[in-house]
Amino acid sequence: MPPRSRRTPGKIQTHEDAQPYRGMRDFTADMWRAYQGSPPPQEAGAQGVVDAVVNHGRWLVDCPGGCRGAQIVSDQWAYFVCVECGSPENGGQLYRLRFPARRVPMEQLLLRRSDERTRNWKVGETEADLQRENDDHGIARGGG
Ligand SMILES: [Zn+2]
Repeated sequence: MPPRSRRTPGKIQTHEDAQPYRGMRDFTADMWRAYQGSPPPQEAGAQGVVDAVVNHGRWLVDCPGGCRGAQIVSDQWAYFVCVECGSPENGGQLYRLRFPARRVPMEQLLLRRSDERTRNWKVGETEADLQRENDDHGIARGGG
């Protein structure tokens, strides 16, 4: 039996790090069936867009419907649906998943923080914001 969850050092975690044995699409379908008891929504019906955020060193989506559910998201399957509440606010359909355009440099700034709990990013925060936070906490800049 493989471990239920794991982490990959030196990167912001995605589904593929936490659940390397089950792809996000199949994982979501399994969870949907377990929570909702119905066939999972399909990509062809996808509507709406949700933004991934970084929370404690993980890329995730907070349920847009406000059920307080959250799910680590995938590098390999660019969709999200809340398996816990079924995303009724989106007609029970998949959302398309959006990562920030400046993902890589922002990740590099977050990865300079040794404590994963401080690796956080939300929509609207800029690289300059992250750099200022790093500076405020005495975290070394890159280049060496
Ligand atoms: Zn939800």
